[in-house]
Amino acid sequence: MKEIIEYYSRKDVQKHILSIAKNRELAVKFGEKGFGKRPDILQFENDILELVRSGATSFHFSEELWSDPLLLEAGMNKRQLDNLRGGWDLIIDVDSSNFLYSQYTTYLIIEALKFHNLNNFSLKFSGNKGFHLGISFKSFPKKVNDIDTNLLFPEGPRVIASYLKYIIKDHLAAYLLKGTTIDNLIKSSGINKEELVKNGVFNPFALVDIDTVLISNRHMFRAPYSVNEKSGLVSIPIDPKNILDFSRNDAIIDKVEAKLGYLDNFKEGEATHLITQAFDWNQKLPSQTSEKTEETKSYVHHEIDNVIPEELFPPCMKIGLSGLSDGKKRFLFILLNFLSNTGYGEKEVENLVFEWNKRNPEPLRESYIRGQLSWHTKQKQKLLPPNCDNQQYYVGLQICKPDGFCKLIKNPAHYTLRKYRLSQEQKKIKKKSK
Ligand code: SF4
Repeated sequence: MKEIIEYYSRKDVQKHILSIAKNRELAVKFGEKGFGKRPDILQFENDILELVRSGATSFHFSEELWSDPLLLEAGMNKRQLDNLRGGWDLIIDVDSSNFLYSQYTTYLIIEALKFHNLNNFSLKFSGNKGFHLGISFKSFPKKVNDIDTNLLFPEGPRVIASYLKYIIKDHLAAYLLKGTTIDNLIKSSGINKEELVKNGVFNPFALVDIDTVLISNRHMFRAPYSVNEKSGLVSIPIDPKNILDFSRNDAIIDKVEAKLGYLDNFKEGEATHLITQAFDWNQKLPSQTSEKTEETKSYVHHEIDNVIPEELFPPCMKIGLSGLSDGKKRFLFILLNFLSNTGYGEKEVENLVFEWNKRNPEPLRESYIRGQLSWHTKQKQKLLPPNCDNQQYYVGLQICKPDGFCKLIKNPAHYTLRKYRLSQEQKKIKKKSK
């Protein structure tokens, strides 16, 4: 306990803990006695030391930002909570009994965030076997699909975490299976085969957990620079660039340097693409399986022998491909998903993308395009491009100029797939009539 009191007496540590306390509910853990009364708040640096002297061992804050956390009560309904909530930060909680698995999964999520043009976010060690990636509420748009973003809790964090899980799944599976077999993983992890292999497919999330279900109202996370009672280590912020070099030894109490902050790195609106795409994906969830079976799978796997020619592309794709002044990164994201659903292989995608980039008045950097292509190529599970009615994309980019055929479809990929099927049918009819 002496060590803990000494540690929390440090002014730099107190300053960092207090720095994210504003508008958050505080939960104080008193060792094995558990948590103190809720709701509570933290107002002054000195309160930290006072609480520690009375037995506090760690500090936890709400992900939600409240106008007045002290008005929270047990059993409040959704409307009451919505009225009090001014916002929420997204904390992605990665955990595994194998620390290296957590580390690599976190690395993949960081890459996925960058793929969505999100570069300003925070990371900290959980204090034991995992990491907490933090995206500030200020990075999100004010509204998503016309709903105030502060009301999107817990759905917003759940949808984004589920989406990120979906898009890193293949990458993570490949990493975990590198140089080993499922039987070896069963032996080393002690997890049974039914959990590790679902419907004949390896499930990496049996080995690494990314919390999606437990995100709920008044959900708390360990404060940065707070001690983890189980390990005795400190939940220290890390520069995301250094995730793969991080060692748990860096978090030993007397080695801690309280330099980096948490949730203080953000760029307003930078997470717009991520949240829009995650909700779009979520909305299409049944179609990712069933509608795709109807529209896409049958064409891609059975009928598309070659790439579908550009003349069968919808107006939005043709306009975008002629070159854009604004929204190039958003269009590239749409384009990659569009092409992977219309029979384009790796090389053809690369050629088409670099040709398109030459037509942009101010081309994107080659390294940026290569990064996007590399991530996209490794992804086996294909995403449909956003649906036509998603205002952030085609309408926002001013490339949606519907023709008569657009009435029949909801997604640009379906436009091309249907046109392709019609052209194939017409060819067959012509052949027969000869
Ligand atoms: S309706 Fe859809 S397919 Fe047609 S131009 Fe607009 S976004 Fe493209």
